[in-house]
Amino acid sequence: MNTLFELHHLCKSYKSEKKEIKALEDINLSISKGEFVAIMGPSGSGKSTLLQCMASFDFPTSGQVLFKGKERKKEEPFGFIFQDIQLLDSLNGYENIALALTIQKENGNIMDQKIRDYAKKFEMESFLFQYPYQMSGGQKQKIAFLRALIVNPKLIFADEPTSALDVSSAKQVLQALDTFHKKEKGTIVMVTHDAFCASFASKVFFLKEGKLFKELQKEGSTKEFWKKIHETLSMLEVDHVS
Ligand code: ADP
Ligand code: MG
Repeated sequence: MNTLFELHHLCKSYKSEKKEIKALEDINLSISKGEFVAIMGPSGSGKSTLLQCMASFDFPTSGQVLFKGKERKKEEPFGFIFQDIQLLDSLNGYENIALALTIQKENGNIMDQKIRDYAKKFEMESFLFQYPYQMSGGQKQKIAFLRALIVNPKLIFADEPTSALDVSSAKQVLQALDTFHKKEKGTIVMVTHDAFCASFASKVFFLKEGKLFKELQKEGSTKEFWKKIHETLSMLEVDHVS
């Protein structure tokens, strides 16, 4: 078994002046190399916190996140697509993407060709040289997506990568993630509230109030999986109301 991540009794609390918020409570799960995993759950259920603990952007209050059986090594290449996008406002789209490659000390000419090739493939040429304030939410999300993909990571974390996109752009991003998963054998951990997006994954974890509610493994077609995800989401909601 090629286990990449193991989470053991992961808990994360945030303390404010008066109360303690338990964002994650006793999460136990594992993710194998090459898996495409989706994390779903209502707003505030701890999805982003879980992703950030896995990516070592944040640290658990207790419990463990093991990467290849050990505490995570920072230098392992991975891409992260943030929920709040986080482009640098003083740089245009091209420069925002180039920055990710510069950090990897990529050769200038290769870098330029790579960005232009990808921009063409994902139909981003019309806004590539615009500044973030001149872009729509969807355009910014595509830039952020390309910035993560262009460094050839082995692992991509994505927090609602299609939330600001129109249907056709969302499909492009999903297809690119699917290609990264199937052709490059990349591992993806994606937070999404959308059953269609999640149905591309090979496994879905459902969170509810910081706890792991259910785990679904893909069996059969994407459409069958989409139906199962829907059923689980409605169970989660029914449970929520009662
Ligand atoms: P989701 O991504 O599922 O919407 P989050 O992981 O962002 O949920 O948040 C889970 C819970 O933790 C929420 O109640 C949220 O308000 C709280 N939370 C998240 N980040 C912080 C923080 N930095 N400080 C205090 N509370 C936080
Ligand atoms: Mg979130």
